[in-house]
Amino acid sequence: PRSMSMGKKTEAVRVVVRCRPLNKKEEAMNHERIVEVDVRRGQVSVRNPKTSATLMKTFTFDAVYETSSKQNELFNYACKPLIDSVLLGFNGTIFAYGQTGTGKTYTMEGVPTDPEKRGVIPNSFQQIFTHISRSQNQQYLVRVSYIEIYQEEIRDLLCKDNNKKLELKENPELGVYVKDLSTVVTKNIKEIEHVMNLGNQSRSVGYTKMNDHSSRSHAIFIITIECSEMGIDGEDHIRVGKLNMVDLAGSERQRKTGVEGQRFKEATKINLSLSALGNVISALVDVKSTHVPYRDSKLTRLLQDSLGGNSKTVMVATIGPSSFHYDETLTTLRYANRAK
Ligand code: ADP
Ligand code: MG
Repeated sequence: PRSMSMGKKTEAVRVVVRCRPLNKKEEAMNHERIVEVDVRRGQVSVRNPKTSATLMKTFTFDAVYETSSKQNELFNYACKPLIDSVLLGFNGTIFAYGQTGTGKTYTMEGVPTDPEKRGVIPNSFQQIFTHISRSQNQQYLVRVSYIEIYQEEIRDLLCKDNNKKLELKENPELGVYVKDLSTVVTKNIKEIEHVMNLGNQSRSVGYTKMNDHSSRSHAIFIITIECSEMGIDGEDHIRVGKLNMVDLAGSERQRKTGVEGQRFKEATKINLSLSALGNVISALVDVKSTHVPYRDSKLTRLLQDSLGGNSKTVMVATIGPSSFHYDETLTTLRYANRAK
């Protein structure tokens, strides 16, 4: 945990790093491991494979997770307190950021049917509905939306016509909102899991022709929790908390060769919202900054009411262990480092 002396502003943002294991292919190709994780110190060190020296670059985060870390460890430390505060009526956002193939989807979703491998999203269902089932004097309403941002266009993953592009609107009462976005009321874990599965299907079906579409889009799973409770004044009091869980587009830079036309346009737009997000988060943690540039991308506009203010933010940066990805790993660690 961050030291208190850094000010309240930074307390609201937690940045953790998770390194996945070498995969079979990397093992078969004898890729070298260049990442070392010091769990106790919260440090990740990376060695430049091009230098023979033992020189390492070291970064410190709120927590780091080694290759054998369990889904639950990450959830309990990094996500549980944030969801507790959503249940109290605050907003919160959990991001997975990193190069494609480093474990963003594994971290956010994992294998929902396997209790050991369940990721952040299914674990949040568990926490939310357990809390609700234990509450006595409150009434809860849980609503879900699921959207995707691809090339700065917003798609509703819970709408039958999922190719329709939705607009971001703004008004003084609602703030920034997505016009005509579907919301589904869910009463238990089974229902909310069903909604998640529908959205995931729609995500992969929408663009069958583009093979790696999902790695180039941001998926945002939004749970709104409304709680009403009779106050001592005899009136019903309602508080609303919103939880956003975001599987970001792959952070990898587009290769210099073979990038043209459509793909290049995509690359610049993806990097636009990722860099806008980086700028917003670093403005939030910088006590000296007076301007938070929410307006620079759809993603940051959409999440404006859940980043900063009373909201909590968690960034899980995912990296691979192999020498092959040295440059991208370093870029990810630098990005995450800026956010703290
Ligand atoms: P991304 O969403 O960032 O592209 P994935 O989540 O799809 O990456 O992960 C790529 C592969 O690595 C998947 O097969 C996934 O199961 C595996 N993987 C990722 N992170 C871990 C981890 N921490 N432990 C075990 N396997 C992992
Ligand atoms: Mg993924």
